Amino acid sequence: MVEKRPLRISIMKHFALAFLAFCIIQILTFQYLAITKYEEALQNNVQEVDERLKAAVEKWQAEKMAKLQQLAEEANRLLNDREKLQAWLVHETREFSELDAIGVADPAGWVWANSTGDNSLNVADRAYFKAALAGKTVMSEPVISRVTGSPVLVQARPLYLGGKIQGILIVTLNLEHLREILEMVNLDGDFQIYLTTATGTTIVASAERKLLDKEQSGQRLYPDWKAIMEDRLYRQVHKYQNHAGEPVVGHWSYLRKADWVLIVESNINKMADQLRLLAFEVAGISLLLLIAGIMPLFNYLSKRLTQPLEELVEATQRIAAGDYSSPVRVYSYREIEKLALAINEMMAQLQQVRAEAEATLDELQEQRGELERRNRLLEEMAITDPLTQCYNRRYVMNRLPSEVAHALRYGEPLSVIMVDVDYFKNINDTYGHLVGDEVLRQVADLLRASTRKADILGRYGGEEFIIICPSTSGSAASQLAERMRQKLAEVQVDAQGEKLPLSASFGVADLVGVPSLGDYKTMANELVNRADMALYRAKAEGRNRVVMV
Ligand code: GH3
Ligand code: MG
Ligand code: MG
Repeated sequence: MVEKRPLRISIMKHFALAFLAFCIIQILTFQYLAITKYEEALQNNVQEVDERLKAAVEKWQAEKMAKLQQLAEEANRLLNDREKLQAWLVHETREFSELDAIGVADPAGWVWANSTGDNSLNVADRAYFKAALAGKTVMSEPVISRVTGSPVLVQARPLYLGGKIQGILIVTLNLEHLREILEMVNLDGDFQIYLTTATGTTIVASAERKLLDKEQSGQRLYPDWKAIMEDRLYRQVHKYQNHAGEPVVGHWSYLRKADWVLIVESNINKMADQLRLLAFEVAGISLLLLIAGIMPLFNYLSKRLTQPLEELVEATQRIAAGDYSSPVRVYSYREIEKLALAINEMMAQLQQVRAEAEATLDELQEQRGELERRNRLLEEMAITDPLTQCYNRRYVMNRLPSEVAHALRYGEPLSVIMVDVDYFKNINDTYGHLVGDEVLRQVADLLRASTRKADILGRYGGEEFIIICPSTSGSAASQLAERMRQKLAEVQVDAQGEKLPLSASFGVADLVGVPSLGDYKTMANELVNRADMALYRAKAEGRNRVVMV
């Protein structure tokens, strides 16, 4: 009867561990997948931002070059009128906020016309001046403006008059618009953006949500700039440690016209932290869902636990009520299994004890039956004559007073017949006692066969019998005796080849002749005495006859 499902209490322990493992695996898997996916997405973003910025910055640069061209044409036109030129320069710088200052230097480097009004400036030592003097149109590295103290870019180009360089146009650009362009794509501060010259000098830089940092202009991001730049420009989007040692995904692009490098980076750690948080959130949610899913399972398990316990309780109640026949269903939870098995064992033992008790009881009852049978036998033996199986004298003499009482109470007749075999001594003497015994048995059988059921036949002693005849008058009893006497004459006992003739004498007495004196026992004795007297007379009158007194 062992339950098939091998479920154990310890399964809950295993289940909890498995569940924990599941959660951990889920978090790790999620993180791995999320980070991998996110890195991919990030690389795409970084690349996209970089390309958009590159286009914007190149457009900005082209505009500045166009503006420079336009300024140069106008400056050329006004080159011979210093006052007009000066006024125009002031007007232009006011008109265009990006223009910090516009100046025109003579070939010796003296800025003789300046929007700032400062004519004492000599730029002969500056690289842009030298380059412009050599006929080039250039944009300088960022420099700190001597006027505003902020980083600026300086454009320079020669002004020709009659095929000869008459002056150098110098335009000082502040970086506000360039910063705005970079800020536009970085409103959320997700990226770190650097615009540097090809030699590594930072033009503008952003640091997370902060506005592009003015302080970083003019600095180098990496001491070993050239190698790093070449590598990163070659590899385009990839993971690396940036100048601050942070792990980033970055995209580098080269702005050919300006000879600048645009760098867009995104911090992986920041993203990974967010993802880790997200992973725990996801794990938490799935934990809740799982718990919601598991609650019915726990309910089911606890039910499976309580049901067997309830069944065990019922079983103990059955035992208390004496029913040991229906064993307990054995569930295989270890503890309950033990309990159930113990109860079943107890039931089996009780059943055996009961069976043994019942067997003992049966045996006792059998013994008692045997005893009763023996007692009955003893009783019978006490009232029965062993030779003839008639009642014995004691019984008849005990019985007779109650028959007398009954007859008197109901006014019924009562008679007694005494019988004595004639010349019996001769039979004994001639053929021996065994033959004599046989004769006695046959006489008894004949007498018994002749009496009615209510008559009581007893052996009075020796070869004498007594018959109590209830509800029988003396004359009726005499007739009965007569029939017996005649039948007896027909009996022939086989004795050593001879046929022995048999006869007996009968004395009959009726209760009517007995005076009602004293108790029933006295009357009974008197009745027997009278029958005895009649018998005596029958003997005296020649035997083989019936006499009634
Ligand atoms: P009567 O005709 O006068 O009665 O003569 P009887 O010989 O029958 O009378 P008696 O009283 O002299 O003899 C009775 C004999 O019966 C005596 C005794 O040995 C014998 N007797 C008494 N009881 C038994 C018995 O149980 N078995 C045998 N075989 N004989 C018995
Ligand atoms: Mg006799
Ligand atoms: Mg006799």
